[in-house]
Amino acid sequence: MSPFAHLVGSWLVASVTTTNPRDRTLVTLAGVLPDADGLGVIADVLSSWFTGKECTFYYYQQYHHVLLHGWPGAMAVSVLLTFFGKQRGPVLFLCLLTFHLHLLCDMVGSRGPDIGDVWPICYSEPLLRHPIWLWKHQWKLDGWQNQSIFIFLFISSLGLTVKRGYSFVEIISQRLDCIFVQLLRKWCRIRNFERC
Ligand SMILES: [Zn+2]
Repeated sequence: MSPFAHLVGSWLVASVTTTNPRDRTLVTLAGVLPDADGLGVIADVLSSWFTGKECTFYYYQQYHHVLLHGWPGAMAVSVLLTFFGKQRGPVLFLCLLTFHLHLLCDMVGSRGPDIGDVWPICYSEPLLRHPIWLWKHQWKLDGWQNQSIFIFLFISSLGLTVKRGYSFVEIISQRLDCIFVQLLRKWCRIRNFERC
């Protein structure tokens, strides 16, 4: 799944399981941060840009799905985020939950364009190579399955936003979140949706 789909899905989980904005943000971040190990792509592009050589995506391929897509990453990210939580016991559990939901979603739906481009989950990386989990029916990253799930998650999140008065935008900015919620509720009133 795309990082944005992970964000929306994790935010939904966090919204129905936490009781305050800070814990909600932390639990959501735990479901997104695994993909931070793909940020090597920035170094790849910049180094290609500065050297004028063809971009080989070396750092991206070397570290994405390796550094933060196993139990060591889950522990590190969850413990770190829990440190900032209000209800630390539930936050630790929920961070581990959204982190592993991310891994599960990647395992079922992160295949590349070719049939052989299956992404495995190396659950003990970067400490150990094994175990390696792989689902041979893994669907494409941009496949209809991922798109359908994303549309469902996105519409669900908008429904929850209208009802509760906060959205996944709060992860970026509380101020932007207020504007987004106001606009969404206004749009709902114009459309005469029942919930508004
Ligand atoms: Zn991922």
